Amino acid sequence: MNRSEVLSALKKDPEVSVLIVGGGINGIGVFRDLALNGVDVLLVERGDFCSGASSASSHMAHGGIRYLENGEFRLVREAVRERNRLLLNAPHLVKPLPTTIPIFKRFSGLLNAPLKFFGMLDKPSERGALVIKLGLLMYDAYTGAQSAQRTVPRHQILSRKKSLAKWKQLNPDIINTAVYYDGAILQPERLAVELILDAESEGPNARALNYVSMIGGSEDTIILRDELTDGTYDVHPRLVINAAGPWIDFTNRKLGLSTRFIGGTKGSHIVVKHAELRKAIGENEFFFENEDGRIVLIFPLYDHVLIGTSDIPVENPDETHCTDEEIDYFLDLTRRIFPSLGLTRENIVFQFSGVRPLPRSTAKTVSQISRDHSIEVLSGDWTHLRFPVYSLVGGKWTSFRAFSEQVTDKALAYLGLSRQKDTRSLPIGGGRGFPRDSADLKRQIESLSAWTGVARERLKVLFERYGTRAESIATFMNGGTDFILRSMPDYSRREMIFLVQHEKIIHLDDFVLRRSMLAMLGRLTREMVDELADVFGNALGWNAGQKTAEVARTLSILADRHGVRL
Ligand SMILES: Cc1cc2nc3c(=O)[nH]c(=O)nc-3n(C[C@H](O)[C@H](O)[C@H](O)COP(=O)(O)OP(=O)(O)OC[C@H]3O[C@@H](n4cnc5c(N)ncnc54)[C@H](O)[C@@H]3O)c2cc1C
Repeated sequence: MNRSEVLSALKKDPEVSVLIVGGGINGIGVFRDLALNGVDVLLVERGDFCSGASSASSHMAHGGIRYLENGEFRLVREAVRERNRLLLNAPHLVKPLPTTIPIFKRFSGLLNAPLKFFGMLDKPSERGALVIKLGLLMYDAYTGAQSAQRTVPRHQILSRKKSLAKWKQLNPDIINTAVYYDGAILQPERLAVELILDAESEGPNARALNYVSMIGGSEDTIILRDELTDGTYDVHPRLVINAAGPWIDFTNRKLGLSTRFIGGTKGSHIVVKHAELRKAIGENEFFFENEDGRIVLIFPLYDHVLIGTSDIPVENPDETHCTDEEIDYFLDLTRRIFPSLGLTRENIVFQFSGVRPLPRSTAKTVSQISRDHSIEVLSGDWTHLRFPVYSLVGGKWTSFRAFSEQVTDKALAYLGLSRQKDTRSLPIGGGRGFPRDSADLKRQIESLSAWTGVARERLKVLFERYGTRAESIATFMNGGTDFILRSMPDYSRREMIFLVQHEKIIHLDDFVLRRSMLAMLGRLTREMVDELADVFGNALGWNAGQKTAEVARTLSILADRHGVRL
Protein backbone atom coordinates (compact mmCIF):
# COMPACT_ATOMS: atom_id res chain seq x y z
CA MET A 1 0.00 0.00 0.00
CA ASN A 2 1.21 3.51 -0.71
CA ARG A 3 0.97 6.33 1.82
CA SER A 4 -2.55 7.50 0.97
CA GLU A 5 -3.84 3.92 0.84
CA VAL A 6 -2.44 3.29 4.33
CA LEU A 7 -4.11 6.44 5.62
CA SER A 8 -7.47 5.55 4.00
CA ALA A 9 -7.25 2.05 5.45
CA LEU A 10 -6.66 3.59 8.90
CA LYS A 11 -9.82 5.67 8.55
CA LYS A 12 -11.82 2.51 7.86
CA ASP A 13 -10.12 0.36 10.49
CA PRO A 14 -8.42 2.30 13.30
CA GLU A 15 -7.52 -0.79 15.34
CA VAL A 16 -3.81 -1.49 15.57
CA SER A 17 -1.91 -3.78 17.93
CA VAL A 18 1.17 -1.58 18.34
CA LEU A 19 1.63 2.08 17.52
CA ILE A 20 5.24 3.28 17.45
CA VAL A 21 5.70 7.05 17.74
CA GLY A 22 9.04 8.13 16.29
CA GLY A 23 10.93 6.91 13.25
CA GLY A 24 14.49 7.17 14.51
CA ILE A 25 16.64 4.07 14.69
CA ASN A 26 15.05 2.78 17.90
CA GLY A 27 11.48 3.05 16.64
CA ILE A 28 12.52 1.57 13.30
CA GLY A 29 14.40 -1.30 14.97
CA VAL A 30 11.34 -2.26 17.00
CA PHE A 31 9.14 -1.86 13.93
CA ARG A 32 11.27 -4.35 12.01
CA ASP A 33 11.32 -6.90 14.82
CA LEU A 34 7.56 -6.71 15.41
CA ALA A 35 6.89 -6.92 11.66
CA LEU A 36 9.07 -9.99 11.40
CA ASN A 37 6.98 -11.58 14.12
CA GLY A 38 3.74 -10.95 12.28
CA VAL A 39 2.47 -8.16 14.55
CA ASP A 40 0.09 -5.58 13.20
CA VAL A 41 2.23 -2.46 13.77
CA LEU A 42 2.03 1.16 12.67
CA LEU A 43 5.01 3.52 12.92
CA VAL A 44 4.51 7.27 12.59
CA GLU A 45 7.29 9.83 12.23
CA ARG A 46 6.45 13.53 12.24
CA GLY A 47 9.29 14.43 9.87
CA ASP A 48 11.31 12.18 7.62
CA PHE A 49 12.61 8.87 8.94
CA CYS A 50 15.88 9.22 10.80
CA SER A 51 15.79 13.01 10.91
CA GLY A 52 16.22 13.41 14.70
CA ALA A 53 19.10 12.18 16.88
CA SER A 54 19.63 9.30 14.48
CA SER A 55 20.78 11.65 11.72
CA ALA A 56 23.30 13.39 13.99
CA SER A 57 25.52 10.48 14.97
CA SER A 58 29.28 10.27 14.75
CA HIS A 59 28.80 7.36 12.31
CA MET A 60 30.56 4.91 14.61
CA ALA A 61 29.46 1.34 15.23
CA HIS A 62 31.34 1.08 18.48
CA GLY A 63 31.43 -0.66 21.79
CA GLY A 64 32.14 2.61 23.53
CA ILE A 65 35.54 2.01 25.03
CA ARG A 66 35.29 5.01 27.33
CA TYR A 67 32.10 3.71 28.96
CA LEU A 68 34.29 1.07 30.64
CA GLU A 69 35.54 3.79 32.94
CA ASN A 70 31.95 4.40 34.09
CA GLY A 71 31.64 0.70 34.90
CA GLU A 72 29.11 0.16 32.06
CA PHE A 73 30.44 -3.30 31.29
CA ARG A 74 27.09 -4.76 30.23
CA LEU A 75 26.60 -1.96 27.73
CA VAL A 76 30.08 -2.29 26.24
CA ARG A 77 29.79 -6.07 25.94
CA GLU A 78 26.44 -5.73 24.21
CA ALA A 79 27.60 -2.91 21.94
CA VAL A 80 30.73 -4.79 20.84
CA ARG A 81 28.58 -7.79 19.96
CA GLU A 82 26.13 -5.57 18.06
CA ARG A 83 28.98 -3.80 16.26
CA ASN A 84 30.13 -7.22 15.03
CA ARG A 85 26.63 -8.11 13.92
CA LEU A 86 26.26 -4.86 12.01
CA LEU A 87 29.53 -5.54 10.20
CA LEU A 88 28.19 -8.95 9.18
CA ASN A 89 24.55 -8.04 8.49
CA ALA A 90 25.05 -4.72 6.71
CA PRO A 91 28.48 -5.04 5.05
CA HIS A 92 27.45 -2.61 2.29
CA LEU A 93 27.14 0.29 4.72
CA VAL A 94 29.07 -0.73 7.83
CA LYS A 95 32.82 -1.19 7.42
CA PRO A 96 35.64 -2.07 9.83
CA LEU A 97 37.23 1.12 11.11
CA PRO A 98 40.80 1.17 12.45
CA THR A 99 40.75 3.73 15.23
CA THR A 100 43.88 5.48 16.44
CA ILE A 101 44.31 7.20 19.78
CA PRO A 102 47.20 9.67 19.87
CA ILE A 103 48.64 9.58 23.40
CA PHE A 104 50.37 12.58 24.94
CA LYS A 105 50.72 11.47 28.58
CA ARG A 106 51.78 8.30 30.33
CA PHE A 107 49.87 8.12 33.60
CA SER A 108 47.12 10.74 33.32
CA GLY A 109 43.53 9.69 33.98
CA LEU A 110 44.50 6.79 36.25
CA LEU A 111 42.27 8.10 39.00
CA ASN A 112 39.25 8.85 36.81
CA ALA A 113 37.54 5.49 37.21
CA PRO A 114 37.93 5.18 41.00
CA LEU A 115 36.98 8.84 41.51
CA LYS A 116 33.89 8.30 39.33
CA PHE A 117 33.05 5.23 41.37
CA PHE A 118 33.09 7.30 44.58
CA GLY A 119 31.21 10.15 42.92
CA MET A 120 34.16 12.51 43.41
CA LEU A 121 35.07 13.30 39.80
CA ASP A 122 34.08 16.86 38.99
CA LYS A 123 36.26 17.41 35.97
CA PRO A 124 37.63 14.59 33.84
CA SER A 125 41.17 14.68 32.50
CA GLU A 126 42.96 13.41 29.44
CA ARG A 127 43.67 9.65 29.52
CA GLY A 128 47.28 8.55 29.59
CA ALA A 129 48.95 5.53 28.00
CA LEU A 130 48.41 3.16 30.90
CA VAL A 131 44.69 3.79 31.24
CA ILE A 132 44.22 3.45 27.48
CA LYS A 133 46.14 0.16 27.43
CA LEU A 134 43.97 -1.24 30.25
CA GLY A 135 40.79 -0.15 28.50
CA LEU A 136 41.88 -1.71 25.22
CA LEU A 137 42.73 -5.01 26.89
CA MET A 138 39.21 -5.17 28.27
CA TYR A 139 37.73 -4.11 24.95
CA ASP A 140 39.60 -6.87 23.14
CA ALA A 141 38.53 -9.35 25.77
CA TYR A 142 34.89 -8.54 24.99
CA THR A 143 35.46 -9.08 21.28
CA GLY A 144 37.54 -12.21 21.95
CA ALA A 145 34.86 -13.65 24.18
CA GLN A 146 32.79 -13.90 21.04
CA SER A 147 35.61 -15.26 18.93
CA ALA A 148 33.24 -16.93 16.46
CA GLN A 149 32.13 -13.39 15.77
CA ARG A 150 35.61 -11.82 15.63
CA THR A 151 35.19 -9.34 12.82
CA VAL A 152 38.08 -7.03 13.69
CA PRO A 153 41.73 -7.52 14.78
CA ARG A 154 43.11 -6.93 18.30
CA HIS A 155 44.55 -3.58 19.39
CA GLN A 156 48.20 -2.54 19.04
CA ILE A 157 50.27 0.09 20.84
CA LEU A 158 52.80 1.79 18.57
CA SER A 159 55.94 3.58 19.72
CA ARG A 160 56.40 7.27 19.00
CA LYS A 161 58.87 6.48 16.22
CA LYS A 162 56.59 3.99 14.48
CA SER A 163 53.59 6.27 14.90
CA LEU A 164 55.36 9.23 13.33
CA ALA A 165 56.67 7.05 10.51
CA LYS A 166 53.12 5.87 9.81
CA TRP A 167 51.33 9.22 10.23
CA LYS A 168 53.79 11.80 9.04
CA GLN A 169 51.66 14.83 9.86
CA LEU A 170 50.91 13.77 13.43
CA ASN A 171 51.92 16.08 16.27
CA PRO A 172 55.49 15.07 17.24
CA ASP A 173 54.66 15.66 20.93
CA ILE A 174 52.90 12.29 21.13
CA ILE A 175 54.52 9.55 23.17
CA ASN A 176 52.59 6.62 21.61
CA THR A 177 49.55 5.78 19.56
CA ALA A 178 47.10 2.98 20.23
CA VAL A 179 45.23 1.37 17.34
CA TYR A 180 42.07 -0.64 17.83
CA TYR A 181 39.11 -1.48 15.63
CA ASP A 182 35.48 -0.43 15.55
CA GLY A 183 33.04 0.04 12.71
CA ALA A 184 31.96 2.94 10.50
CA ILE A 185 28.27 3.32 9.64
CA LEU A 186 28.80 5.19 6.41
CA GLN A 187 25.20 6.16 5.71
CA PRO A 188 23.07 5.67 8.83
CA GLU A 189 20.00 7.25 7.24
CA ARG A 190 20.05 4.83 4.31
CA LEU A 191 20.47 1.90 6.66
CA ALA A 192 17.37 3.04 8.55
CA VAL A 193 15.25 3.26 5.39
CA GLU A 194 16.40 -0.18 4.28
CA LEU A 195 15.32 -1.58 7.65
CA ILE A 196 11.84 -0.12 7.11
CA LEU A 197 11.60 -1.55 3.60
CA ASP A 198 12.71 -4.97 4.87
CA ALA A 199 10.11 -4.82 7.64
CA GLU A 200 7.29 -3.93 5.27
CA SER A 201 8.21 -6.68 2.85
CA GLU A 202 8.39 -9.25 5.65
CA GLY A 203 5.34 -8.17 7.62
CA PRO A 204 2.06 -7.87 5.74
CA ASN A 205 0.60 -5.91 8.68
CA ALA A 206 3.49 -3.48 9.14
CA ARG A 207 3.11 0.08 7.92
CA ALA A 208 5.48 3.02 8.41
CA LEU A 209 4.48 6.60 7.61
CA ASN A 210 6.74 9.63 7.55
CA TYR A 211 5.32 13.14 7.96
CA VAL A 212 2.62 11.90 10.34
CA SER A 213 2.64 13.24 13.93
CA MET A 214 1.11 11.95 17.08
CA ILE A 215 -0.69 15.03 18.43
CA GLY A 216 -2.73 13.77 21.36
CA GLY A 217 -4.73 10.99 22.89
CA SER A 218 -6.97 9.91 25.70
CA GLU A 219 -8.65 6.74 26.95
CA ASP A 220 -8.37 4.24 24.07
CA THR A 221 -7.58 6.71 21.27
CA ILE A 222 -4.49 8.32 19.78
CA ILE A 223 -4.82 11.22 17.36
CA LEU A 224 -2.47 11.40 14.41
CA ARG A 225 -2.03 14.29 12.01
CA ASP A 226 -0.93 13.96 8.41
CA GLU A 227 1.62 16.79 8.09
CA LEU A 228 1.06 16.97 4.34
CA THR A 229 -2.69 17.60 4.44
CA ASP A 230 -3.41 18.48 8.10
CA GLY A 231 -5.97 15.64 8.08
CA THR A 232 -6.40 13.90 11.44
CA TYR A 233 -6.84 10.20 12.14
CA ASP A 234 -7.93 8.37 15.28
CA VAL A 235 -6.29 5.06 16.03
CA HIS A 236 -7.01 2.56 18.79
CA PRO A 237 -3.77 0.82 19.76
CA ARG A 238 -3.36 -1.97 22.29
CA LEU A 239 0.14 -0.73 23.07
CA VAL A 240 2.01 2.51 22.36
CA ILE A 241 5.78 2.62 22.04
CA ASN A 242 7.13 6.10 22.54
CA ALA A 243 10.34 6.10 20.51
CA ALA A 244 10.54 9.87 20.20
CA GLY A 245 14.18 10.03 21.34
CA PRO A 246 14.99 13.44 22.81
CA TRP A 247 11.27 14.35 22.46
CA ILE A 248 10.03 11.46 24.64
CA ASP A 249 8.83 13.67 27.50
CA PHE A 250 7.19 16.12 25.06
CA THR A 251 5.41 13.19 23.43
CA ASN A 252 4.23 11.75 26.75
CA ARG A 253 2.91 15.19 27.63
CA LYS A 254 0.69 15.10 24.51
CA LEU A 255 -0.89 12.02 26.10
CA GLY A 256 -1.36 13.79 29.42
CA LEU A 257 1.58 11.92 30.99
CA SER A 258 4.04 14.00 32.95
CA THR A 259 7.48 12.39 32.70
CA ARG A 260 11.07 13.56 33.01
CA PHE A 261 12.92 10.61 31.55
CA ILE A 262 15.30 12.51 29.26
CA GLY A 263 18.27 14.75 30.04
CA GLY A 264 19.60 15.23 26.54
CA THR A 265 23.03 16.44 25.51
CA LYS A 266 23.73 18.18 22.26
CA GLY A 267 26.46 17.00 19.92
CA SER A 268 27.61 18.71 16.73
CA HIS A 269 29.87 17.78 13.83
CA ILE A 270 31.47 19.42 10.84
CA VAL A 271 32.40 17.81 7.53
CA VAL A 272 35.52 19.21 5.90
CA LYS A 273 37.03 18.95 2.45
CA HIS A 274 40.75 19.01 2.98
CA ALA A 275 42.82 16.71 0.78
CA GLU A 276 45.96 16.77 3.00
CA LEU A 277 44.02 15.98 6.19
CA ARG A 278 42.12 13.21 4.41
CA LYS A 279 45.42 11.78 3.18
CA ALA A 280 47.04 12.20 6.60
CA ILE A 281 44.43 10.06 8.39
CA GLY A 282 44.21 7.41 5.66
CA GLU A 283 41.40 4.98 6.46
CA ASN A 284 41.82 5.58 10.22
CA GLU A 285 39.61 7.39 12.58
CA PHE A 286 41.56 9.46 15.12
CA PHE A 287 39.79 9.39 18.44
CA PHE A 288 41.13 11.17 21.47
CA GLU A 289 40.38 13.13 24.56
CA ASN A 290 41.10 16.73 25.07
CA GLU A 291 42.87 17.96 28.20
CA ASP A 292 39.48 18.45 29.87
CA GLY A 293 38.39 14.91 28.99
CA ARG A 294 36.07 15.82 26.10
CA ILE A 295 36.07 13.50 23.12
CA VAL A 296 37.13 14.47 19.62
CA LEU A 297 36.98 12.29 16.56
CA ILE A 298 38.46 12.82 13.11
CA PHE A 299 36.75 10.33 10.87
CA PRO A 300 37.29 9.36 7.22
CA LEU A 301 33.94 9.87 5.49
CA TYR A 302 34.37 8.93 1.83
CA ASP A 303 36.77 11.53 0.42
CA HIS A 304 35.95 13.99 3.22
CA VAL A 305 36.63 14.17 6.94
CA LEU A 306 33.98 14.23 9.66
CA ILE A 307 35.01 16.03 12.86
CA GLY A 308 33.08 16.07 16.13
CA THR A 309 31.70 16.07 18.72
CA SER A 310 30.42 18.06 21.67
CA ASP A 311 28.37 16.90 24.65
CA ILE A 312 26.41 19.84 26.04
CA PRO A 313 23.27 19.50 28.23
CA VAL A 314 20.17 21.04 26.57
CA GLU A 315 16.51 21.28 27.52
CA ASN A 316 14.92 21.93 24.13
CA PRO A 317 15.96 19.52 21.36
CA ASP A 318 14.29 21.70 18.71
CA GLU A 319 16.82 24.49 19.11
CA THR A 320 20.07 22.73 18.38
CA HIS A 321 22.59 24.22 16.03
CA CYS A 322 26.28 23.76 15.51
CA THR A 323 27.63 27.00 17.04
CA ASP A 324 30.70 29.07 16.15
CA GLU A 325 32.20 28.11 19.48
CA GLU A 326 31.85 24.39 18.69
CA ILE A 327 33.40 24.91 15.27
CA ASP A 328 36.39 26.72 16.81
CA TYR A 329 36.76 23.88 19.29
CA PHE A 330 36.76 21.22 16.53
CA LEU A 331 39.26 23.15 14.42
CA ASP A 332 41.56 23.84 17.39
CA LEU A 333 41.65 20.21 18.44
CA THR A 334 42.22 18.92 14.95
CA ARG A 335 45.12 21.38 14.69
CA ARG A 336 46.46 20.01 17.96
CA ILE A 337 46.71 16.53 16.42
CA PHE A 338 47.74 17.62 12.90
CA PRO A 339 49.40 20.99 13.53
CA SER A 340 50.97 21.47 10.12
CA LEU A 341 47.85 21.02 7.99
CA GLY A 342 46.27 24.46 8.25
CA LEU A 343 42.62 23.48 8.58
CA THR A 344 40.30 26.52 8.48
CA ARG A 345 36.61 27.37 8.39
CA GLU A 346 36.83 27.64 4.59
CA ASN A 347 37.26 23.85 4.48
CA ILE A 348 33.86 23.19 6.10
CA VAL A 349 31.26 21.93 3.61
CA PHE A 350 28.51 20.80 6.00
CA GLN A 351 27.62 20.90 9.67
CA PHE A 352 25.01 19.16 11.80
CA SER A 353 23.82 18.89 15.34
CA GLY A 354 21.50 16.66 17.34
CA VAL A 355 20.53 15.70 20.86
CA ARG A 356 21.38 12.39 22.51
CA PRO A 357 18.29 11.05 24.29
CA LEU A 358 20.20 10.26 27.48
CA PRO A 359 18.45 9.38 30.72
CA ARG A 360 17.95 12.34 33.10
CA SER A 361 20.79 12.16 35.57
CA THR A 362 22.40 13.83 38.55
CA ALA A 363 25.92 12.92 37.38
CA LYS A 364 28.51 15.62 37.99
CA THR A 365 29.87 15.59 34.44
CA VAL A 366 28.16 14.76 31.15
CA SER A 367 30.67 12.01 30.43
CA GLN A 368 29.40 10.22 33.55
CA ILE A 369 25.78 10.06 32.34
CA SER A 370 24.91 6.48 31.48
CA ARG A 371 24.84 5.70 27.76
CA ASP A 372 22.77 2.57 28.38
CA HIS A 373 19.14 2.11 27.31
CA SER A 374 15.99 1.28 29.24
CA ILE A 375 12.26 0.76 28.73
CA GLU A 376 10.11 2.92 31.01
CA VAL A 377 6.58 1.51 31.30
CA LEU A 378 3.57 3.67 32.11
CA SER A 379 0.39 1.72 32.68
CA GLY A 380 -2.39 1.01 35.14
CA ASP A 381 -2.77 3.63 37.89
CA TRP A 382 -0.08 5.78 36.32
CA THR A 383 -2.21 6.78 33.38
CA HIS A 384 -5.76 7.51 32.33
CA LEU A 385 -5.04 5.62 29.11
CA ARG A 386 -6.40 2.16 28.35
CA PHE A 387 -3.13 1.03 26.81
CA PRO A 388 0.37 0.97 28.27
CA VAL A 389 3.05 3.32 26.98
CA TYR A 390 6.64 2.09 26.73
CA SER A 391 9.18 4.93 26.50
CA LEU A 392 12.51 3.95 24.93
CA VAL A 393 15.13 5.93 26.81
CA GLY A 394 18.73 6.19 25.62
CA GLY A 395 20.30 3.75 23.22
CA LYS A 396 22.99 3.95 20.61
CA TRP A 397 22.89 3.46 16.90
CA THR A 398 25.25 0.55 17.38
CA SER A 399 23.05 -1.39 19.77
CA PHE A 400 19.64 -0.58 18.27
CA ARG A 401 19.03 -4.22 17.33
CA ALA A 402 19.57 -5.53 20.85
CA PHE A 403 17.44 -2.74 22.35
CA SER A 404 14.71 -3.44 19.79
CA GLU A 405 14.83 -7.13 20.63
CA GLN A 406 14.30 -6.36 24.32
CA VAL A 407 11.38 -4.04 23.54
CA THR A 408 9.86 -6.55 21.11
CA ASP A 409 10.09 -9.38 23.65
CA LYS A 410 8.26 -7.24 26.15
CA ALA A 411 5.63 -6.20 23.61
CA LEU A 412 5.09 -9.78 22.41
CA ALA A 413 4.62 -10.94 26.00
CA TYR A 414 2.10 -8.15 26.58
CA LEU A 415 0.19 -9.11 23.42
CA GLY A 416 0.25 -12.79 24.42
CA LEU A 417 2.35 -13.76 21.40
CA SER A 418 5.54 -15.74 21.17
CA ARG A 419 8.61 -14.90 19.14
CA GLN A 420 8.75 -16.59 15.71
CA LYS A 421 11.92 -15.04 14.29
CA ASP A 422 14.87 -13.04 15.52
CA THR A 423 17.10 -10.47 13.89
CA ARG A 424 20.53 -11.55 15.16
CA SER A 425 21.93 -12.72 11.88
CA LEU A 426 19.35 -11.21 9.59
CA PRO A 427 20.96 -9.28 6.73
CA ILE A 428 19.79 -5.71 6.23
CA GLY A 429 18.67 -4.35 2.84
CA GLY A 430 21.49 -4.30 0.31
CA GLY A 431 23.68 -6.27 2.72
CA ARG A 432 21.82 -9.43 1.67
CA GLY A 433 24.15 -11.54 -0.48
CA PHE A 434 26.72 -8.72 -0.55
CA PRO A 435 29.99 -9.77 -2.27
CA ARG A 436 32.50 -11.28 0.14
CA ASP A 437 35.54 -9.78 -1.60
CA SER A 438 36.54 -7.81 -4.67
CA ALA A 439 36.62 -10.90 -6.91
CA ASP A 440 33.05 -11.73 -5.89
CA LEU A 441 32.01 -8.11 -6.47
CA LYS A 442 33.53 -8.24 -9.96
CA ARG A 443 31.64 -11.46 -10.71
CA GLN A 444 28.33 -10.03 -9.50
CA ILE A 445 28.85 -6.87 -11.54
CA GLU A 446 29.76 -8.84 -14.68
CA SER A 447 26.67 -11.00 -14.52
CA LEU A 448 24.37 -8.09 -13.67
CA SER A 449 25.79 -6.08 -16.53
CA ALA A 450 25.23 -8.96 -18.96
CA TRP A 451 21.70 -9.38 -17.70
CA THR A 452 20.57 -5.74 -17.51
CA GLY A 453 22.77 -4.07 -20.08
CA VAL A 454 23.84 -1.43 -17.53
CA ALA A 455 27.54 -0.49 -17.84
CA ARG A 456 29.96 -2.04 -15.33
CA GLU A 457 31.26 1.33 -14.11
CA ARG A 458 27.73 2.45 -13.39
CA LEU A 459 26.95 -0.79 -11.55
CA LYS A 460 30.04 -0.35 -9.39
CA VAL A 461 28.66 3.00 -8.22
CA LEU A 462 25.22 1.46 -7.60
CA PHE A 463 26.77 -1.33 -5.50
CA GLU A 464 28.65 1.25 -3.42
CA ARG A 465 25.46 3.19 -2.85
CA TYR A 466 22.87 0.47 -2.43
CA GLY A 467 24.67 -2.84 -1.92
CA THR A 468 22.86 -5.71 -3.64
CA ARG A 469 19.74 -3.57 -4.03
CA ALA A 470 21.73 -2.41 -7.08
CA GLU A 471 20.20 -5.44 -8.78
CA SER A 472 16.60 -4.19 -8.49
CA ILE A 473 17.66 -0.66 -9.36
CA ALA A 474 19.62 -1.72 -12.46
CA THR A 475 16.69 -3.89 -13.59
CA PHE A 476 14.36 -0.93 -13.18
CA MET A 477 16.78 1.38 -15.01
CA ASN A 478 16.80 -1.05 -17.88
CA GLY A 479 12.98 -1.08 -18.05
CA GLY A 480 12.65 2.29 -19.80
CA THR A 481 14.54 5.15 -21.41
CA ASP A 482 17.11 6.39 -18.95
CA PHE A 483 19.49 9.31 -19.04
CA ILE A 484 22.26 10.67 -16.90
CA LEU A 485 21.44 13.83 -14.94
CA ARG A 486 22.95 16.96 -16.45
CA SER A 487 24.28 18.35 -13.17
CA MET A 488 25.24 14.98 -11.60
CA PRO A 489 26.54 12.49 -14.16
CA ASP A 490 26.87 9.72 -11.56
CA TYR A 491 23.06 9.68 -11.08
CA SER A 492 20.41 8.85 -13.66
CA ARG A 493 16.76 9.73 -14.03
CA ARG A 494 15.40 6.20 -13.61
CA GLU A 495 17.57 5.66 -10.54
CA MET A 496 15.83 8.68 -9.00
CA ILE A 497 12.40 7.42 -10.03
CA PHE A 498 13.14 4.06 -8.42
CA LEU A 499 14.04 5.82 -5.16
CA VAL A 500 10.89 7.94 -5.28
CA GLN A 501 8.73 4.88 -5.85
CA HIS A 502 10.41 2.65 -3.27
CA GLU A 503 12.04 4.74 -0.57
CA LYS A 504 9.22 6.90 0.81
CA ILE A 505 10.65 10.18 -0.46
CA ILE A 506 8.17 12.99 0.17
CA HIS A 507 10.28 16.14 0.05
CA LEU A 508 13.35 17.04 -1.95
CA ASP A 509 15.43 17.33 1.22
CA ASP A 510 14.62 13.69 2.09
CA PHE A 511 16.77 12.75 -0.86
CA VAL A 512 19.59 15.28 -0.64
CA LEU A 513 20.02 14.93 3.13
CA ARG A 514 19.05 11.35 3.97
CA ARG A 515 18.79 9.03 0.94
CA SER A 516 22.06 10.25 -0.52
CA MET A 517 25.34 11.79 0.64
CA LEU A 518 25.03 14.76 -1.72
CA ALA A 519 24.53 17.41 0.96
CA MET A 520 26.79 15.94 3.61
CA LEU A 521 29.70 15.65 1.22
CA GLY A 522 29.25 19.21 0.03
CA ARG A 523 28.45 18.18 -3.54
CA LEU A 524 25.23 20.13 -4.01
CA THR A 525 24.97 23.09 -6.33
CA ARG A 526 21.97 25.27 -7.03
CA GLU A 527 21.76 23.72 -10.50
CA MET A 528 21.53 20.24 -8.96
CA VAL A 529 18.77 21.27 -6.58
CA ASP A 530 16.77 22.70 -9.50
CA GLU A 531 17.33 19.64 -11.68
CA LEU A 532 16.40 17.28 -8.84
CA ALA A 533 13.21 19.26 -8.19
CA ASP A 534 12.28 18.70 -11.85
CA VAL A 535 13.01 14.98 -11.78
CA PHE A 536 11.26 14.36 -8.45
CA GLY A 537 8.47 16.76 -9.33
CA ASN A 538 7.72 14.88 -12.53
CA ALA A 539 7.73 11.57 -10.67
CA LEU A 540 5.60 12.83 -7.78
CA GLY A 541 3.27 15.04 -9.81
CA TRP A 542 4.37 18.42 -8.39
CA ASN A 543 3.14 21.51 -10.25
CA ALA A 544 5.43 24.49 -10.89
CA GLY A 545 4.48 26.12 -7.58
CA GLN A 546 5.25 22.95 -5.64
CA LYS A 547 8.61 22.61 -7.34
CA THR A 548 9.51 26.17 -6.39
CA ALA A 549 8.36 25.57 -2.82
CA GLU A 550 10.41 22.38 -2.56
CA VAL A 551 13.54 24.16 -3.80
CA ALA A 552 12.97 26.99 -1.31
CA ARG A 553 12.38 24.51 1.55
CA THR A 554 15.58 22.61 0.73
CA LEU A 555 17.69 25.75 0.42
CA SER A 556 16.38 27.06 3.71
CA ILE A 557 17.04 23.80 5.62
CA LEU A 558 20.54 23.63 4.15
CA ALA A 559 21.31 27.19 5.17
CA ASP A 560 19.67 27.19 8.61
CA ARG A 561 20.73 23.80 9.89
CA HIS A 562 23.78 22.87 7.90
CA GLY A 563 25.58 26.10 7.10
CA VAL A 564 25.27 25.40 3.34
CA ARG A 565 24.42 28.44 1.21
CA LEU A 566 23.73 27.78 -2.47
C1 LIG B 1 25.86 13.93 18.41
C2 LIG B 1 25.55 12.47 18.50
C3 LIG B 1 26.51 11.53 18.19
C4 LIG B 1 26.21 10.18 18.29
N1 LIG B 1 27.13 9.27 17.86
C5 LIG B 1 26.84 7.96 17.90
C6 LIG B 1 27.74 7.01 17.36
O1 LIG B 1 28.77 7.36 16.79
N2 LIG B 1 27.41 5.70 17.46
C7 LIG B 1 26.27 5.29 18.06
O2 LIG B 1 26.07 4.08 18.17
N3 LIG B 1 25.35 6.17 18.53
C8 LIG B 1 25.62 7.49 18.46
N4 LIG B 1 24.71 8.40 18.90
C9 LIG B 1 23.50 7.94 19.57
C10 LIG B 1 22.37 7.60 18.61
O3 LIG B 1 22.43 8.36 17.44
C11 LIG B 1 21.04 7.87 19.32
O4 LIG B 1 21.02 7.32 20.58
C12 LIG B 1 19.90 7.26 18.53
O5 LIG B 1 19.92 7.76 17.22
C13 LIG B 1 18.57 7.60 19.18
O6 LIG B 1 17.56 7.16 18.31
P1 LIG B 1 16.03 7.34 18.66
O7 LIG B 1 15.29 6.58 17.66
O8 LIG B 1 15.80 6.98 20.10
O9 LIG B 1 15.78 8.91 18.57
P2 LIG B 1 15.58 9.85 17.27
O10 LIG B 1 16.47 9.46 16.18
O11 LIG B 1 15.64 11.26 17.72
O12 LIG B 1 14.12 9.51 16.80
C14 LIG B 1 12.98 10.05 17.43
C15 LIG B 1 12.04 10.52 16.36
O13 LIG B 1 10.78 10.81 16.94
C16 LIG B 1 10.16 11.80 16.14
N5 LIG B 1 9.06 12.40 16.90
C17 LIG B 1 9.14 13.21 17.99
N6 LIG B 1 7.92 13.54 18.41
C18 LIG B 1 7.03 12.93 17.58
C19 LIG B 1 5.61 12.91 17.50
N7 LIG B 1 4.84 13.57 18.36
N8 LIG B 1 5.04 12.19 16.50
C20 LIG B 1 5.79 11.49 15.59
N9 LIG B 1 7.14 11.50 15.64
C21 LIG B 1 7.76 12.20 16.62
C22 LIG B 1 11.30 12.75 15.84
O14 LIG B 1 11.03 13.53 14.69
C23 LIG B 1 12.48 11.80 15.67
O15 LIG B 1 12.78 11.52 14.31
C24 LIG B 1 24.95 9.77 18.76
C25 LIG B 1 23.96 10.72 19.04
C26 LIG B 1 24.24 12.06 18.87
C27 LIG B 1 23.15 13.07 19.09
